[in-house]
Formats: sequence, C-alpha cells, structure tokens
Amino acid sequence: MLANPFHKAKAILEIIESYQHQAYFVGGCVRDYLISRPIGDIDIATSATPDELQQIFESIIPVGIEHGTVIVRFEGQSYEVTTFRVDGNYSDQRHPDTVTYIDQIDKDLERRDFTINALAMDKDGKIIDLFHGKSDLKKGIIRTVGNGVERFSEDPLRIIRALRFSSQLGFTIHPETITHMKQVKQEIEGLAVERITKEFTKLFAGEHVQKALDYIINLKIYQYLPIFRDNDQLFVRLPANVKPLLSFSEVLVLFHFLDRSISIAAWSKAWKCSNKQKREALQLTEQIDLFSHEGLSPWLVYQLPNTLYGGFVRLISCLCGKKVMMEQMLEIDHALPIHTKQEINFSGNDILELFPGSKRGPWIQQLLNSIERQIVTKQLPNEYQAIKEWIKWNPPGIN
Ligand code: ATP
Ligand code: MG
Repeated sequence: MLANPFHKAKAILEIIESYQHQAYFVGGCVRDYLISRPIGDIDIATSATPDELQQIFESIIPVGIEHGTVIVRFEGQSYEVTTFRVDGNYSDQRHPDTVTYIDQIDKDLERRDFTINALAMDKDGKIIDLFHGKSDLKKGIIRTVGNGVERFSEDPLRIIRALRFSSQLGFTIHPETITHMKQVKQEIEGLAVERITKEFTKLFAGEHVQKALDYIINLKIYQYLPIFRDNDQLFVRLPANVKPLLSFSEVLVLFHFLDRSISIAAWSKAWKCSNKQKREALQLTEQIDLFSHEGLSPWLVYQLPNTLYGGFVRLISCLCGKKVMMEQMLEIDHALPIHTKQEINFSGNDILELFPGSKRGPWIQQLLNSIERQIVTKQLPNEYQAIKEWIKWNPPGIN
C-alpha cells in the first residue's frame, strides 16, 4: 500500500502500464518519501513518448515537450511526466543539445545528478536503487551518480544543486564529490544566471542554510557568482547562524545591507530578478531603515505590504539580531485607522476646492501624503471636517 500523496498518482502509473509502457515515480518525491520529508511535486518517468502520452491522456500540457516532459492533469492535480531519456551535450549550459528517448529506466536514472535523486519507485512501492541512493539517504550523503568531474562538467549547475540539497536536507557532501566540485567550480561562470537564481532561492530557504553557506565560503564558490565575484568579502561578512530566508527578495536585501554601496537595482539586474522581486526588496529595505530609526511604528507597518511581514521579521532577526513578533505587526496593522490612501476621507478635488484658482500640481500629492501620515500616526482623525481644519493650519506651498 502506497503512502497518501502517491495513492492518487498511482492511477497514472496503472493507466500508462495498461498501454504496455513502463512508468515509475522518480527523483525528489521518492527521496523525500523515504526520509519522511513533505513531498513537493510528484514526478513520473515513463517509456511512453510524449506523442504516446498525448494519445493516452485527455488533458496534457506540453510544457517541456522538447525534453520529453509533459504535464498530465489528472483528478485536479498536475503531474510532470517525462519520457526515459539520455541527454546529449550541455554546450549552452542551459539545456542538453539533444535528448534521446530510451525504453529502459536504468540509463534515465544514470543521467540524474545525485544518488539520492536517482531513485525510482513502482506502483507497488518497490524501490529501484541502482546507485546506493538509499544507503546515502540513510547516511545523509550527497554524492554524484558516476564521476563527479564529468557530471559537473556536463552541467555545472549541479554544483549549486549539491549545495542546495545540503541546505534543504542538512546532508554532507561526500569528500570525493567536494574534490570534484573544486575542480569544476570555475565553470559556474558560464551558467545562465536564472538557473542559479532558482537554486539559490531554494538554498536560502533550506532549513540548514548555514551548512550550505559554510560550503560556499570554504569552497570559495562565490568567486564565480554575479556581484560576489567582485566583492569577495560579502559571504564572509554574513552574520553567524543565518536562518532560512523564504524569498529571493529577502536574499537581495540581506546582501544589500552587508554593503550599502551595491544597490538593489544592481543586485536585481545582475541576478535577473523579476520586477516583483526588485519591488519587494526595495520595500523591505526602506522599512528596515525606518525600523533602525523608530522601531516598529504604525507608519512602518502601514507602509509594508502584509505579504512582506514574514520577510521583514526574518531580516530584522538576521541583520539586527532583534526579535520582532509577527503577532505584534498584525496587532498594529489591525489598529491602523486606514490601510490605503484611498481610505482617506478627503480627495485631491476637495483640496483644490479649498484653494480656488490654484493649478493642479505635485503639491496636491504632497499634501495628501502629509495628511496620510498624520492619520496613520493618529495625530489627525480621518474625518472630512478635521482634515479641512488641519489643512487650514498647515497650508501647502503652492508654486
Ligand atoms: P524539489 O523537491 O526541490 O523539487 P527535486 O529533487 O525534485 O527537488 P528538481 O529540480 O525538481 O529537484 O529535479 C527533479 C529531478 O530531476 C531530480 O531529483 C534529479 O533526479 C533530476 N535533475 C534535475 N535537475 C538536474 C540536473 N541539472 N542534472 C541532473 N539531474 C537533474
Ligand atoms: Mg521536483
């Protein structure tokens, strides 16, 4: 009997097998299941080609069809189903130049990065373990499948992935694998930065992030990473005992505070971050600065979007060694008289009416900003008459 998350997915293996193809659960889901870690996505490997899968299942999304991967939608869930394959060269350091479909799982498992990721499980829960992955899982060891120098040269991202798994699982990288990482580490420089960013996001969010950071410092991996390569003191300056940071925006902010001369804009550009990540990093930076001046004030809580409260708490703990409680932030938020500018009981037009003959201009926005701050800090009630009176005593500079 399979464990719960696999129970539903088992039907997919059975359907594929009923068409005379093989199908297995593979990779991270089998690894995590065996160590009782919460399972992320369930990935399936099969001898059926994407064309054959398209005939078997009604609903298929051809996400990575050029590499033999399709998403099968089944009973409201998505599963990545990949045809058994061997990879050609990785000459662009992004994708293998060619993929060749095969009909046995063994060579497919051999192309995978680490022994603990090269496990497969059939529909009855029987494990296929060709590279002692189970034993490495038990010992807590990360070790390449086959020769590390070859495997890391094929795809240097695997070096970063080894660090990422050490952070997520708390595992030790096998000494031989470490030696091989050292030999190939310069090739990290040729990787597409988006691939590194993705792994780094998971690395920093891992429960044992400090373990991965120690590896990065000892192996001097930072010498081959954007920005770090020209600022080799950054990793060394990290505070002791870094705790997990759950988004890449938080990671940017952490490093920005270690050297204020490197702007968030520069970090975002070099690490090809999304506009959202950049915006979040800027918002967090602004409020951390405010915190250093006035502590956890209503104005700070008002300006910080609720979705960033967690990141703010984590960063304050990491950067200032101070404990801000999430509950405290929520309490302050709850007690705020307004939550957005739109809630102010006075509009730009109301202001213009008070100053007939004045032209529209930035002064209106500036005045509204001052009113907003007065209301949030409870120096002014959010009432039309009160605001009108306040403006009389605090007239704007109109040019
Ligand atoms: P997570 O739980 O974070 O998704 P995962 O082990 O599933 O971890 P993925 O990046 O989703 O990691 O990859 C799925 C599987 O594909 C891996 O377990 C591994 O077998 C294989 N794999 C992924 N990337 C590589 C790579 N660059 N080189 C070799 N094998 C890889
Ligand atoms: Mg996965």
